Amino acid sequence: MDSSAHDDFKFDTLALRAGTLRSEFNEHSEALFLTSSFCFSSAAEAAERFANAEEGYTYSRVTNPTVTMFQNRLAALEGGEACIATASGMSAILSVVMCALQAGDHLVSSQSIFGSTMQLFSAILPKFGITATFVKAGDLEAWRSAIQPNTKMFFLETPSNPLTEVADIEAIGRIAKSVQALFVVDNCFCTPVLQQPLKLGADVVVHSATKHLDGQGRVMGGALVGSRQFVMEKVFPFVRTTGPTLSAFNAWILLKGMETLGIRIERQSSNALQLARRLETHPAVKQVFYPGLESHPQYAIAQRQQKAGGAVLSFELKGATPQEQRANAWRVIDQTQVCSITANLGDTRTTITHPASTTHGRISAEARAAAGISEGLIRLAVGLEDAGDLHTDLLRGLDAAS
Ligand SMILES: *Cc1c(COP(=O)(O)O)cnc(C)c1O
Repeated sequence: MDSSAHDDFKFDTLALRAGTLRSEFNEHSEALFLTSSFCFSSAAEAAERFANAEEGYTYSRVTNPTVTMFQNRLAALEGGEACIATASGMSAILSVVMCALQAGDHLVSSQSIFGSTMQLFSAILPKFGITATFVKAGDLEAWRSAIQPNTKMFFLETPSNPLTEVADIEAIGRIAKSVQALFVVDNCFCTPVLQQPLKLGADVVVHSATKHLDGQGRVMGGALVGSRQFVMEKVFPFVRTTGPTLSAFNAWILLKGMETLGIRIERQSSNALQLARRLETHPAVKQVFYPGLESHPQYAIAQRQQKAGGAVLSFELKGATPQEQRANAWRVIDQTQVCSITANLGDTRTTITHPASTTHGRISAEARAAAGISEGLIRLAVGLEDAGDLHTDLLRGLDAAS
């Protein structure tokens, strides 16, 4: 299916077929090109390929057919012109930053972002003369007033982790556009199944393919999607020179993962909604955070912007003191028999995490409290198991807590 045909097909068809390249053998399943370099038929052809590295294959740091298939499929799913795949989500974010910004520039970012992204923006970029201001994602006035004469990028993660705060992509995009800042959205949680930020005004979408795109917790990967001009003229030369390239093997795994992306995300979202509703009525639970619940503060935005609530929900347990809250949360986690106690997400198997002592354990207690991450908070990344079994799994610890 060539890329000009994308407009004619629906998402589920593209997820299976967009970007497929067939070799001379006409294999049905996408081929895994485990090769670091490619041969030329003559010295003259080699010279030509090297002179024009975008056309044809020379070396897998530059391009590889299996990686190309993954890139073209994800570009089709996000509705973007071009995609570059990277070794991890973080290398995708780093590549965007390195290509869009230079010393003296400033970026504005939502404050509840992935921990390593926060670390990159707040501790690493300042060494290179790039500064950042962090704002509450849903506070449009805060985005506006954070703008400086040198602001060149807006960065947004929605929904946020672990409290699932939803921000209005279109509204923030308009503010970014008013100062010609490149608007980057991390679409890891929703995936293009639930939300396509490029259609809502984002310039670039970044992914940790490690999460839902693989979907089965097997490999690391990342990607960025945007205009041909930004992706091919700016990011591609950077990635092929500096080498944060996605491996062919991981690209092949991700291609297989994307075939089932639609049905996985829909089912994981409906499982998550069922669990969120049940947890909301449990006496030991203080609050449930899930964009699909009517009680969610940004429910209206989520309904407009996302096709469903997604796989991630969190809930806070009651407790008279932080110590008691933590004890209650740890009891729920320790009494599960189905959920995996691991900090990863986006897997077909449900994972359960205590953010305050793991993913958000390195930040100060005050910063954690300001971010709303209490000792009683549990994050669930809901998988494909039976929703009733998952509920029972959580009830063991919850009933003991109440
Ligand atoms: C995991 C994650 C990342 C980083 O991706 P890696 O593949 O681990 O490098 C970035 N953003 C979000 C929202 C994530 O969950």
